[in-house]
Amino acid sequence: MNAAPTPQPGIMEIELYQGGASKVDGVTDILKLSSNENPYGAPESARIAAAEATQVMHLYPNTDHASLRAAIAEVHDLDPDRIVCGVGSDEIIHLLCQAYVGPGDEVLHTEHGFLMYAISARAAGATPVKVPERDRTVDVDALLAGVTEATRLVFIANPANPTGTLLNGQDVVRLADGLPDGCLLVLDGAYAEFADDFDGGLGLAQHRENVFATRTFSKLYGLGGLRVGWGYGSRAVVDVLNRIRGPFNLSNVALAAAEAAVRDRDFAARCVADNTVQRARLRKGLAGLNLPSDPSAANFVLARFADEAEATSCDAFLKSRGVIVRHPKSYGFPDCLRITVGDAAGVDRLLEGIAAWREQ
Ligand SMILES: *Cc1c(COP(=O)(O)O)cnc(C)c1O
Repeated sequence: MNAAPTPQPGIMEIELYQGGASKVDGVTDILKLSSNENPYGAPESARIAAAEATQVMHLYPNTDHASLRAAIAEVHDLDPDRIVCGVGSDEIIHLLCQAYVGPGDEVLHTEHGFLMYAISARAAGATPVKVPERDRTVDVDALLAGVTEATRLVFIANPANPTGTLLNGQDVVRLADGLPDGCLLVLDGAYAEFADDFDGGLGLAQHRENVFATRTFSKLYGLGGLRVGWGYGSRAVVDVLNRIRGPFNLSNVALAAAEAAVRDRDFAARCVADNTVQRARLRKGLAGLNLPSDPSAANFVLARFADEAEATSCDAFLKSRGVIVRHPKSYGFPDCLRITVGDAAGVDRLLEGIAAWREQ
């Protein structure tokens, strides 16, 4: 038999991404708090728009996403020509790596940073380089110290996942200022809407050639299953990404739902307000159970246990009751559980579960 070809360098070093679990054998009433999804689901407006769009599923979608870009631009006060839409922001991250790095290039990310940065860097043949964080927060000095002549891309999520911590505006500017020419700072704003008075770096991306911001419909807008994200940057970068993205990357259904969702400002405002209230309840409840956490600017909280054994035991106990959270071992937090902020009943059920685990 003739052998199959060898994959490109780097690909076999990629560890398979594990999504948040959604099932427990033998338990029917599941509360999924493992993937930072919206506890209220998708807005009604998006469901109606998606249903209507199924009427034209035999037609190819448009290739320029003009209508969705116009809606995003209107809501965020941006230039629609500088927006690029992708199959989740994951695709935008992937396209950035495909376009700007290859063998010999370095992609910088932080110690507990989102796993997709290293995966996409390796997929492009580049070398992901990890720098330390300080107290579970992005450390600008460590990042700047990690930059070499080979660095082309620097990824930070702000707020960060899985820590939920926010890097302040001055520090982000300092990072952007400190990077050498030819190096792009990518600000992943998947959770930006959940932080108070924060534009997710869109303002910086508006004014700086070397800053690119990404956003998603998967978290606040409840459309994780449809896969829509977008990025904002200079015309030059957007032009590059458009050349390599699939022309029909977003389906009619996804485009229609995302446009309706982003225009539904009431839904977004209600979800953000509720998240703020429930997040505070969750952190307070956890603290009462002797589980500290950092102030979170996102829709999840990282609860710190005494050690890995405790986190593992609590995780298993919650699972047996149908409550699924994330044990972020692969993010360097074996002694923590990342818990998505639920609705009021969800937060109650989670806290009752942990209290019962403490008592057993
Ligand atoms: C969830 C998440 C994303 C978004 O992923 P999509 O592909 O848009 O669903 C991006 N970055 C971080 C840090 C995330 O947690």
